[in-house]
Amino acid sequence: MTDWKRPQPAPLYLRQRLRANFPEITKMGIYNDRNIAGTTKKSAHAEGRAIDIHLNANIPSQRTLGDQLVSALIRKALPLGIDNVIWNRQIWSRAKGGPRLYKGKSPHTDHIHVEFTRAGSQQSILQAIEMDIAIIRSGMEDLNKAHDSMA
Ligand SMILES: [Zn+2]
Repeated sequence: MTDWKRPQPAPLYLRQRLRANFPEITKMGIYNDRNIAGTTKKSAHAEGRAIDIHLNANIPSQRTLGDQLVSALIRKALPLGIDNVIWNRQIWSRAKGGPRLYKGKSPHTDHIHVEFTRAGSQQSILQAIEMDIAIIRSGMEDLNKAHDSMA
């Protein structure tokens, strides 16, 4: 029996991989027994199957990283078992596609919300995202080097 009152394996794995590769991400949250902002509906965080990746969409370098991660997560959503991704006033969902305008209360300009399906959340390894993480990391490093050499 799955214990839904704790962080699930897939978001835990994703957090570990992001921590190891992107020091820019200062904070990530998974389990939180709460409702979706502005509603009486339970958030997927209340089942530990969503992760908030804190990045600031108003800071260009953080926005670039956020955009790259979101695009990879959407591209690989099916093998990763992702149900929806919300970032910077836009949402992609398995049910309705996207990205399209997110009409919820929170604009999600200070974090990416990544929500796994119940089944998807039980994966202990997410092989489908590994190459994307490596490519995004080296791209960000090249970008930072270019900035440093101009400074
Ligand atoms: Zn969230």
